[in-house]
Amino acid sequence: QLVLVTGISGFVATHVALEYLKNGHPVRGTVRSKEKAEVVKKTPCFQPYLEQLSFVVVEDLVTGDFSEAVKDVSIVAHTASPFHMSGSSWEKDYRDPAVRGTRNCLEAAAKESSVKHVVVTSSFASVGDFSKPATEQAGKVYTEKDWNPITEKECEGLKSDNPMAASLWYCASKKFAEKTAWEIAEQSNFTLSTICPPMVFGPPLHNVDSLDALNTSSGAVYGLMKKDGSSSKEVPETAFPAFADVRNVAEAHFKSSIEGKNERYLVCNGTFTNQTIVDSIRDRYPDLKDRLAEGNRGEKPDGKVFTLDASKAEKELGLRYISFEDCVKDTVDRFLAIEKEV
Ligand code: NDP
Repeated sequence: QLVLVTGISGFVATHVALEYLKNGHPVRGTVRSKEKAEVVKKTPCFQPYLEQLSFVVVEDLVTGDFSEAVKDVSIVAHTASPFHMSGSSWEKDYRDPAVRGTRNCLEAAAKESSVKHVVVTSSFASVGDFSKPATEQAGKVYTEKDWNPITEKECEGLKSDNPMAASLWYCASKKFAEKTAWEIAEQSNFTLSTICPPMVFGPPLHNVDSLDALNTSSGAVYGLMKKDGSSSKEVPETAFPAFADVRNVAEAHFKSSIEGKNERYLVCNGTFTNQTIVDSIRDRYPDLKDRLAEGNRGEKPDGKVFTLDASKAEKELGLRYISFEDCVKDTVDRFLAIEKEV
């Protein structure tokens, strides 16, 4: 059963592809250029599986044609989407690549009779209400029934100099992309699962040229422990205080696509704050203490912010959530290894 993974150069997609490869599925990945395919081929985690790994170039999500990519594929894992906070246009930087990219990919999948299941990497961004800070939502328990209430009109009305604009646009892009996926699935022969994790941490296994060019969520953790000592001496505020381990996220993609049902899954390993991250790093790695801010040591977010009920993925997919401490440890181990490599 051939699996297509879009945006295979990315942090989450690398783990998703690896999960299928480990379970015996050949994987075809989309990349933006032939050169990128060569880089991905050299990724250490893919070395045992090179014979099962192939690539198709889809230059851009907005203008790209996925018809060649989906040919003879049984499962499509659509993960590619912009996740950064540097955009200045709702339409160009967020909405179009997320929504049109999903439409282009899923419409091509709908035309290919071999495609039985599509799994879309959605996000908690598509679920939560980000018009209020997490600290004003203490007691709120999010489930798969919730949707981010933001409207297109609100997105259009946000000025790019609003410090919240990029993060609200990103969250909205994930909501509208997921809605698009469900609309297309309704008129297609494939089944659809959507995976909705909050901030994804865990070991970055994809190619990383520089620790300044990490994907957004890994960069948020590395930013607390930079080697050159330039991390803030204050512990920064935590905008999205819930996390998922990338290995559980990948497992949810794989297992939901094998189940082949129309389902939406929250995947969440727990709450966190930047304070709990620095505390956990300091406890495990005393040698790193000079890189870290002190903050209010021991302060926990419990009871002070919203939570996610992610038990459906445990019950239906058999996920066993990796602990916060193990997730931080494995993430930091990988950062320390990358520091030696780059
Ligand atoms: P990365 O930036 O590591 O990966 C994004 C991938 O999408 C890359 O392969 C990138 O290609 C590709 N991509 C982005 N924009 C375009 C475009 N316009 N045309 C073609 N390809 C494009 O991010 P993550 O791995 O973190 O994110 C992957 C998915 O997971 C996204 O859908 C994101 O919304 C979702 N997600 C991530 C979370 C997290 O905390 N990391 C949390 C919840 C959901 P290239 O490398 O060439 O730029």
